[in-house]
Amino acid sequence: MKLNKNFANLQESYLFSKIAKKVNSFTAENPNKKIIRLGIGDVTLPLVPVVIAAMQEAVAEMGDAKTFKGYGPEQGYSFLKENIQKYYKSRNINIVEREIFVSDGTKSDLGNILDLFDKENIALIPDPVYPVYVDTNRMAGRKIIFANATQENTFLPLPDRKVKADIIYLCSPNNPTGATYSKEQLKEWVEYALANHAIILYDAAYECFIQGKEIPRSIYEIEGAKECAIELCSFSKIAGFTGTRCAYIIVPEALIFDGMSCNKMWLRRQSTKSNGVSYIVQKGAAAVFTAAGEKQVQQNIAYYMENAKILANCMDALDIWYTGGQHSPYIWLKCPKFKDSWKFFDYLLEKANIVGTPGDGFGKNGKGYFRLTAFGDRENILEAVARLKKLVHNI
Ligand code: PLP
Repeated sequence: MKLNKNFANLQESYLFSKIAKKVNSFTAENPNKKIIRLGIGDVTLPLVPVVIAAMQEAVAEMGDAKTFKGYGPEQGYSFLKENIQKYYKSRNINIVEREIFVSDGTKSDLGNILDLFDKENIALIPDPVYPVYVDTNRMAGRKIIFANATQENTFLPLPDRKVKADIIYLCSPNNPTGATYSKEQLKEWVEYALANHAIILYDAAYECFIQGKEIPRSIYEIEGAKECAIELCSFSKIAGFTGTRCAYIIVPEALIFDGMSCNKMWLRRQSTKSNGVSYIVQKGAAAVFTAAGEKQVQQNIAYYMENAKILANCMDALDIWYTGGQHSPYIWLKCPKFKDSWKFFDYLLEKANIVGTPGDGFGKNGKGYFRLTAFGDRENILEAVARLKKLVHNI
């Protein structure tokens, strides 16, 4: 018996445990100080009333022999997939129901989708980025090359024609940088993928935060993307499902490589390894797309985006370089005066009692940068801004 030795190549994920340790020791020494947490990228507002009502109704159905449901379709119930289809249609994107697969989360889909690809493929992953892309490929023993996201390219790397990659990860709006690709920039990636016989895994988990119509919310707004891209999206951020769990992945039928259909492979994979998502949760997710659901979730998104605007305005007032905040709940800032993100973390915690996330945790290019999140209480955001203004003037 041999274990998967690739696990030895994973870096320990110290980031959030290191942050927790530092915060715990600070609070133990300073029990009366009020800490403001702008670190973790989890939503804070509760599920909206329409979702709760739909799930309660589904619970009642499960308790009645006449309406009880056993195993559901592995790829999701039609009532939810039809709503997802309409959600795309409202943005002039035609997706057929067979291309939509419901799951328990984008994180799971990101890990599972790699079942489709040969180990010898080269993965191209932006740095900094959501660490799951790197770790899932390391576990599979796949070679990774990084696309450098830096201040020079406003943290939006574009394809380098000299580099040969097979599996390309794009995340827009991005975690952690909040940077968001324009149509022209995404067009370059689609052209690169088509020319290189490569596939794009497009993580649209934060699409709901995009304001206005110019910025694409789906890779399928770009011509040719159906022939080279899989899109992943989640109910976690749009509707606060981080603890409820529901997401979907679009695998177009036009994705054919060497005569094999990615859509058929994914259907085979899912129906072999998954029994789908709970009926109750899918009922809740479907309610997000009703008129009342849309209105209610939009109110929550608007609340977070107002928080983001308050943080972004604070960066402008302090003349701190940053990305994000405009189409994203994340503000990615250049640490004022500090070159080391952890030193800035300590300084911020000690002097202003604010917790953020050091950029190094998301890749080597995150060094010297820092992530603040707009998920949280308005009152706390306003207090954090007041503290930041006082602090930065004194550095
Ligand atoms: N993709 C990105 C870029 C994320 O930042 C996150 C969570 O923070 C996820 C996916 C996870 O989504 P889910 O909750 O659906 O697993």
